[in-house]
Amino acid sequence: MSRILITGGAGFIGSHLCERLLSEGNDVICLDNYFTGSKDNIRHLMDDHHFELVRHDVTTPYHAEVDEIYNLACPASPVHYQYNPIKTTKTSVLGAMNMLGLAKRTRAKILQASTSEVYGDPAVHPQVESYWGNVNPIGLRSCYDEGKRCAETLFMDYHRQNGVRIKIVRIFNTYGPRMNPNDGRVVSNFIVQALRGEDITIYGDGSQTRSFQYVDDLVEAMVRMMATDDDFTGPVNTGNPGEFTMLELAEMVIRLTGSKSKLVFMPLPSDDPRQRKPDISLAKEKLGGWEPKVRLEEGLKKTIEYFDALIK
Ligand code: NAD
Ligand code: UDP
Repeated sequence: MSRILITGGAGFIGSHLCERLLSEGNDVICLDNYFTGSKDNIRHLMDDHHFELVRHDVTTPYHAEVDEIYNLACPASPVHYQYNPIKTTKTSVLGAMNMLGLAKRTRAKILQASTSEVYGDPAVHPQVESYWGNVNPIGLRSCYDEGKRCAETLFMDYHRQNGVRIKIVRIFNTYGPRMNPNDGRVVSNFIVQALRGEDITIYGDGSQTRSFQYVDDLVEAMVRMMATDDDFTGPVNTGNPGEFTMLELAEMVIRLTGSKSKLVFMPLPSDDPRQRKPDISLAKEKLGGWEPKVRLEEGLKKTIEYFDALIK
């Protein structure tokens, strides 16, 4: 049994990770400031005496004796991370420093939830970990992209300079139950719009691509990554290599919900990446043959069920 700290634990991915690590008999501290997360996501865990909930902001230091830290605290959707961009950079950078400081003091292993956004609008396709990316440092997405890139730098330097045991995972677009229905990400937007019979908002001409990973596949990869030998730090990509245009996604959501919603085309947000697809060879090799198991259609059905119950 380990004592595990999960920052951003009341968010979409964090809540699934709390659930998984508790089910394996660990003591879990879920730390969150509830900016985009919610107690509703973890309410079902509160009676478990191995679960503790802490309201805290990672931009200020936090102290506890722990064995492992999963650092997920950061708004993840463009709408939310652009709401207060200075705070987003602080959350990534100061949050990483505070959590790395804690890992150094307690000798805990620490995993960073990084992102495919570190590749920016990628000129290499599919994206491999050795690709340095194509990121605009002064655009509207930069607070998130550069914040996450700087966090990776801090992780590597705490490792090289102080011997902190670090793990970096670069997460590609992930979806599933407990996504925030108002956070503006494409899967939640399309499903909620389809279920309400509202227009489906396609940004640009809908030919841009993304690869969508179901949350259970991601959680499996994160837990396996934490268990790898100390000499493997990553970064390692985790995502589902199935690549879809936003038009294909919209059509699939309409078919699966049986909705009568129509497509409407809206301006493409600035710096919106044209294409994204992970190369997952390294994850397969280092994470014991890990690969995503849930196909998009199957994962969408489970996510539609969740939103259907939520918005009724
Ligand atoms: P989310 O918004 O649901 O979760 C983020 C959580 O962090 C929320 O509970 C929020 O309240 C909390 N938080 C934000 N700022 C904080 C702060 N200053 N102090 C404490 N808590 C704070 O998003 P998610 O999709 O669950 O993302 C979790 C992590 O995974 C993020 O770091 C995100 O960058 C990363 N990620 C997610 C995706 C994806 O597709 N979902 C892709 C790449 C990376
Ligand atoms: N998108 C869209 N309609 C929406 C929301 C998003 O067409 O209602 C597009 C968006 O422009 C982007 C893709 O879907 O090309 C994925 O957007 P999301 O915000 O989910 O994630 P990210 O851009 O960070 O990958």
